[in-house]
Formats: sequence, structure tokens, C-alpha cells
Amino acid sequence: MTIKKENPVRVRFAPSPTGRTHLGSGRTALYNYLLARRTGGQFILRIEDTDQKRFVEGAEEELMQGLRWLGLDWDEGPDVGGDYGPYRQTERRELYAKYAKELIESGHAYYCFCTAKDDGHEEAKGKRQQHRDICPSREVVSAEASQKIASGTAHVIRYKMPREGKITVEDAIRGEITVENATLDDYILVKSDGLPVYHLAVVVDDYLMKITHAIRTSEWLPTFPLHGHIYAAFGWKQPTWIHPSIFLKPDGKGKMSKRDSEALMEAGKPIFLSDFAKLGYLPEAVVNWAALIGWSYDDKTEEFTLDELIEKFSVEKLSPSPAALNFTKLDHFNGVYIRAISPEDLAKRIKPFFVDAGYEIDDEKKLLRVAKLLQVRLKNLTESPAMGGFFFKDEVFPEAETLIGKKMDAESALALAREIEILVANLPDFSMDTANQPFRDLAKKMDTKVGNVFGFLRDSLTAQKVSPPIFETMEIIGREKVMARIERGVELLDGLL
Ligand code: GLU
Repeated sequence: MTIKKENPVRVRFAPSPTGRTHLGSGRTALYNYLLARRTGGQFILRIEDTDQKRFVEGAEEELMQGLRWLGLDWDEGPDVGGDYGPYRQTERRELYAKYAKELIESGHAYYCFCTAKDDGHEEAKGKRQQHRDICPSREVVSAEASQKIASGTAHVIRYKMPREGKITVEDAIRGEITVENATLDDYILVKSDGLPVYHLAVVVDDYLMKITHAIRTSEWLPTFPLHGHIYAAFGWKQPTWIHPSIFLKPDGKGKMSKRDSEALMEAGKPIFLSDFAKLGYLPEAVVNWAALIGWSYDDKTEEFTLDELIEKFSVEKLSPSPAALNFTKLDHFNGVYIRAISPEDLAKRIKPFFVDAGYEIDDEKKLLRVAKLLQVRLKNLTESPAMGGFFFKDEVFPEAETLIGKKMDAESALALAREIEILVANLPDFSMDTANQPFRDLAKKMDTKVGNVFGFLRDSLTAQKVSPPIFETMEIIGREKVMARIERGVELLDGLL
């Protein structure tokens, strides 16, 4: 199914604020967003908060932050408003009541007085019976029902599923799905607290909000036929439904459970949107990676910015089969985007990691120079302080032994270090052009490997095993600190004798 670029869609992302925002939700939002932006349509954020028992305070804020972090902005939503609001389902309660009543009046739903505990549902499940087979309320005439309601009897509203026949619903990437009505039950539409369940609310809202296309996870496939029934009962046209695959665990064996997500998190692999940033991932990388879990362009091209995705996204390339999460790929994309952004941008993004690690960053120019040096090496923003923290320290503390080069002893290392100190003091500047040859000549003169010369410099200047290229490093550290650190290196070696 091709959705033409010139036909604007109205799509929605409709999360429930029941916990932290999962990558899977981020991906669903992304696909909807791409479709909206590609066709010049609208992307709507609707908060499905009717399940008050599972409501989590702060989840909505986290969700919005997560979407914004990914770069997905919405045209209508609880915070920005729009012509089809309110966009929070608990604020639309009366609407659902009205439509539920319509279904009752048209004979498609009924008041059910079996209370949650004694509705025999559990028992019926055990006996493989449907609720409708044991429910005494199903055939209660409306006058009697109204009386019970008036006298305050607790009740829910259930869909009156036909016992015979079949229903066919259609998914744009899966084709037609036909099920026997006998396999469907009398689902609850409105709970005893008067709030609708998802099945009713989603139909009413998608209709009233004029949603033309709905991308949601395949976890909704089992109740998709029920939604088809409700649409038919109202006589409404359905949106085009698209159910992309769910995620599998990284090993490909089975669906991700909550516990799997937690285990991944413990292993340093993010799965909730807000953790990606904390763990040093760029939103550009997450967008690119998430888009490809279940969608491909041409089986070759892998790198897509958000704008490129908008340009290239197509529903027919969404996969109906489940896809395993591949974190190695995420790391790869992260490296790609770290190198793709401007050094100025990178400097901004690494700054909080230095600050969190306890560094005071007041020299923005220096930060930019450091960013330029780190840019070619970083795989993850969290590595920045470990790689470049020494630039912002007053002093570094190498171990004396590490200052001794290969096949050298403390004495020869000290002799070399003293020569290095003199050479550096006499260098007019630390550029590669100026400094490289003199160091090489020195190695020859001292009859040692050039690696030992640079090894001493690196250790004494950075106290790290690996560092950015030494001359650029020296230029950023500056002559005064370079000399002080070399001097300390000399002293440390002296102390070994
Ligand atoms: N509130 C549902 C969820 O969070 C939305 C599903 C849909 O997009 O229709 O899964």
C-alpha cells in the first residue's frame, strides 16, 4: 500500500502514561511522525490515561521529554491544543459515555451487572467458556437495566459480540485478517468507574479526531477484530491500520519482558527513552537505529537522518515480522553521528558529561578544541571525561613506573625525560611541523625507540594509556602546564633511583 506524498494524513501517537517510555513507544511515535511529515499532514499526541489503576505520576512529562529529545514534535496534543481536543482521554469521559449509550441503544452493547469479582469470568476462563455464555445481564431488557442503574447497582458496559459469523479487518502490511466471532468475547467497553477501556476510547477518538492512518504495535492485533466490530456498529469508516512488528530480545529468542528490559538496563543497554541520553547516545543515532528495527529502505542503505527518513519512509517497507534489538548497531550509529555533527554541537553535548564528572568547564574555546580532538575517537558521549578529562585538570598523577619506556630502566628513562624537558622548553610551538622531527632526532640520539619518547610525553601529560594525538594535546594543555607536568614526570623518575 503506497501512501502518496501529496495526500496529507492525520496520525496519532497514543501512549498510556503507565510507566517509563519504552524504545518501542518511541519507534511507534517515530513511524507516525514520519508519515505525517512526509505527507505534510498532522501528528497528534493523545494521552490514553483511562486506566487509572496503572496511571503513573510524571509519566506524561517523561514521555513528552522523550519525544522532544528524539526531535519528534507534535501538531496537536494536551500541551499545544488543537481543534480536536481535549487530547487527554480522562478529559473526554462524557464523549465516551454518549457513544457507549448509542451502542446500547442500537443493540451492540449492554449493561453488565456481574461485578468484577463475581462475574464468573475467571471461572469461565478455566472452563474455556466465554463471558457471554454465562452472563445473565446480556439479555436483560433495557427497562430493567435502567432500574438497576437508577438504584445504584454497579455495572460495566460490554460489547454484545454476535455468536455467529465472522469479521474481517485489514492491516496495510499484513493484509486481511478474518476471525470467527465465536472466538471473540463480550469485551468490557466501559468500566464500573465510568471510564472507557482502550477498545472503545480508541475507536471514538480516532473517529472524532479524524485519524486517517494508525500505526500501533502488533500487540493490538488480537483485539483488532473487536475494533472492527465497534466501527461497524457505529457505521464509521476505519482508518488505515498498520501494525509493525514487536521487538525481540537481543538474542532473538522471544518478546522483551519488563524483566528483560531491566536486565538490559543493568548491562548498560538503554531501553527507556530517557536512559539513552544518560548513557551517552545521540538522538540522531537512536532515531536511525529505531527506524531500522522493523523498517528498511533498500536493504543496503543504513544511515538516515530524521530528514532523510521523512523523505524515504514508506509504510509498505515496514516489516510484519518481529525484529531483535541489536545494540552493536546502535553503538555504530552513535559513532557515525558523533562524527557527523559539528564540533560546536559536539562540544555542547559533551559538556554535561564533563560537568557531571566534576570538571569545571569555563573555557568554552578550550572545550571546542577538545571536542574536535575527541570527535574522531568517541563512540559514546559518556567516554568524554575519561578520554579528555586531563585537559581540564590542574595536575595529573601518572604512576612513576608507567613513565619508563620499553627496554629501559629508571635511569635511562630519567635521562631521556630530562632531554625531553629541555627540548620542549626550547620548542617555539607544539605544532606537528615544528615538534615532530626534533623528537625523532632525540630518540635517535638517545638510542631509543621514538615510541618511548612519545610514551613519556603522553603519560606525563595525560596520565592515560591512550590519548588524542600528542602535539594537538600539548597545544591545548598549553606551555605552562606542559612544562609543569613534564617536570613532575622527571621528578617521579628521579624518585625511583
Ligand atoms: N494506549 C495504547 C498503548 O499505549 C495505544 C495503542 C494505539 O496506538 O492505538 O498501547
